[in-house]
Amino acid sequence: MAASPKLPAFDPADPLGIDDLLEPEDLAVRDTVRGWAADRVLPHIADWYEKGELPGIRELARELGGIGALGMSLEGYGCAGASAVQYGLACLELEAADSGIRSLVSVQGSLAMYAIHRFGSEEQKEAWLPRMAAGEVIGCFGLTEPDHGSDPAHMRTRAKRDAGGEWVLNGRKMWITNGSVAGVAVVWAQTEEGIRGFVVPTDSTGFSAPEIKHKWSLRASVTSELVLDDVRLPADAVLPEVTGLRGPLSCLSHARYGIVWGSMGAARSSFEAAVEYAKSREQFGRPIGGFQLTQAKLADMAVELHKGILLAHHLGRRMDAGRLRPEQVSFGKLNNVREAIDICRTARTILGANGISLEYPVMRHATNLESVLTYEGTVEMHQLVLGKALTGLDAFR
Ligand SMILES: Cc1cc2nc3c(=O)[nH]c(=O)nc-3n(C[C@H](O)[C@H](O)[C@H](O)COP(=O)(O)OP(=O)(O)OC[C@H]3O[C@@H](n4cnc5c(N)ncnc54)[C@H](O)[C@@H]3O)c2cc1C
Repeated sequence: MAASPKLPAFDPADPLGIDDLLEPEDLAVRDTVRGWAADRVLPHIADWYEKGELPGIRELARELGGIGALGMSLEGYGCAGASAVQYGLACLELEAADSGIRSLVSVQGSLAMYAIHRFGSEEQKEAWLPRMAAGEVIGCFGLTEPDHGSDPAHMRTRAKRDAGGEWVLNGRKMWITNGSVAGVAVVWAQTEEGIRGFVVPTDSTGFSAPEIKHKWSLRASVTSELVLDDVRLPADAVLPEVTGLRGPLSCLSHARYGIVWGSMGAARSSFEAAVEYAKSREQFGRPIGGFQLTQAKLADMAVELHKGILLAHHLGRRMDAGRLRPEQVSFGKLNNVREAIDICRTARTILGANGISLEYPVMRHATNLESVLTYEGTVEMHQLVLGKALTGLDAFR
């Protein structure tokens, strides 16, 4: 009888052997981002979170630019031109540190930079993208308004052309990540020809961005209101290559793709904390990880975590092949954020009372994921996107 081939050892960190799908360059990107987050975020994050601030955000942005994490999958203009899988791996590692850091990077690269890269003029790209890729300029993306979140088609912010051809913007945007620290805002507004995007330098007269405080989620992230009060912009401030909601929605699809991966980072961090705790915490004279009920929780968490990572890989490969549909991104975001939050909540139960302490990451991740569940399309919006794709019937209105 032929000897059976020697099986690789079971790796608790990668039980399905998903790393076999990665190339050496992918692993190098992952290690770089993981190392940066371990040095620059993990030692401070609990303190930042408790204080509700992200001190040194400009320095962090420059460092993220230095490791190529800003506008990472974009080509040219100082961007890294990485694959979608590499970008996803970076999002996972950043969100394993904190969703706020991943949000900073997503909004910069997948929303503000992506909008300019895809829909901007050559002059706009040259003016902003190299400095944004380097982290010298932080960008934000203003779509949501106080009265229009899931339904941006009815936004009230308006841009009107005056007699000289200049644009005049009026309105308010709400819940805008990076708003108060941004040097440039991509703002979406109603015009006579439909919804258009505008590149707004934040030192424009009439522009202000008060920070939103008293958040219980994404506390180590800057979230702001944007106020546009007769903001005058030159005729060429409009993004020339898109009219209509297709513009912002395609940016959101790109950012959501990063969330499919990122949410698994928060889940992984909580899962690892739960495993360590279960192995060391003793009750009834033995480690709680030895009880069948705890093992059932850990097994179910591992199954959903690695299924989610596998799904993210699959979508990444489709994106790299130019075959990723928006409905598939909705599929990924719906599943992975929902499962990630569930993993964090289960991890919290394994840690018992310690689960609510900032000494451990699980409650921080769980509360962060409440925002991630809502932004870039709520659970219900992604259910409706999939429902429409499955039935051909539009239930949005
Ligand atoms: C921390 C944070 C950061 C953010 N950053 C940004 C940013 O950088 N830029 C930006 O533009 N926005 C940002 N947002 C806003 C975010 O995208 C919106 O909160 C989101 O789109 C939901 O809008 P809303 O909060 O107004 O909820 P609503 O749209 O008012 O929805 C409330 C509830 O009603 C449900 N609902 C609505 N319509 C339907 C329907 N037809 N059928 C069934 N259910 C429905 C929703 O699913 C939800 O459960 C951020 C939000 C947060 C919390």
